Amino acid sequence: MEEQIKELLEQALRDLEAAGSDLKEIDGVRVKYLGKKGQLTALLRKLGTLDPALRPVAGKALNEARENIEKAIEEARKRAKEAVILRIEPFDVTVPGRRPAVGSIHPITQTAREIARIFVQMGFEIVEGPEVELDYYNFEALNIPKDHPARDMQDTFYVSEDVVLRTHTSPIQIRVMEKRKPPVQIIAPGKVYRCDSDMTHSPMFHQVEGLMVGKNVSFADLKGVLTLFVHQMFGTHIGVRFRPSFFPFTEPSAEVDIQCVICGGSGCRVCSETGWLEILGCGMVDPAVYGYVGYDPEEVTGFAFGMGIERIAMLKWGINDLRMFFENDIRFLHQFRFTPKP
Ligand SMILES: [Zn+2]
Repeated sequence: MEEQIKELLEQALRDLEAAGSDLKEIDGVRVKYLGKKGQLTALLRKLGTLDPALRPVAGKALNEARENIEKAIEEARKRAKEAVILRIEPFDVTVPGRRPAVGSIHPITQTAREIARIFVQMGFEIVEGPEVELDYYNFEALNIPKDHPARDMQDTFYVSEDVVLRTHTSPIQIRVMEKRKPPVQIIAPGKVYRCDSDMTHSPMFHQVEGLMVGKNVSFADLKGVLTLFVHQMFGTHIGVRFRPSFFPFTEPSAEVDIQCVICGGSGCRVCSETGWLEILGCGMVDPAVYGYVGYDPEEVTGFAFGMGIERIAMLKWGINDLRMFFENDIRFLHQFRFTPKP
């Protein structure tokens, strides 16, 4: 029997060597010799049938053989695991690292933040309002009753007869004045919606509304605030002019032009050879509007203005197609990566 045990041990060690670093094969060797039906296990069972005088020697040899096989299996497993690690992680410490992709702040967001920063410095507070708005706030309380021709100027998305997607940020003026006593000095940036889409119109775009109401707020204040804004946004060398206009909720009303940022005022295609570019609408709050919010027009006066954020961004960076802001082509957006954070 001792001869048999010796052969078995040698065979087991050869099998293990053949298994190499394959964990499955190594386990196969374990089952073959030490499993319930394993060859060594079978010999152990036979022990009982031996002559009692021979049992101690055979038993000792069997135990030794089992220990040897177990030890060899354990070592084979360890080697196999190390081999796996080496296969997975061969690395060259001299290879340069990969930089993670860094995103950038969208140019519209950058512009909105810059506009907000300028007005906040002048003491304006930022407020927000709902994008789904009552007809009352979007039109009526802004002195645009039903059947008013000014409603045709804005292609409105109607949610129901009395509910619209706001066509401008002006309803926020009404919501603020309804809740607060004068003086108020706010700007309200946000998304607005109009049923219109081409190179210069998008069904969704961004506006910033401004409102300043109090005792003795005059048109001179309006001119001062907006001129300072233009100079901060585009540079102090840029000329500004106020041109009479009409809006139902301001009286008198004006549109603000800046000297063409492309040609510097000498005339080009962008400014239609006029040297000027329109950037916003404004005016003194129409006394009729105060009637809707319980302000006394004998006591307070004020001004309001509204501008398109896309328009400002297009002029600031010389972008000629509005749709680029919404297509989000990475090649376009990457160009705004290194613009200093407003
Ligand atoms: Zn020009």
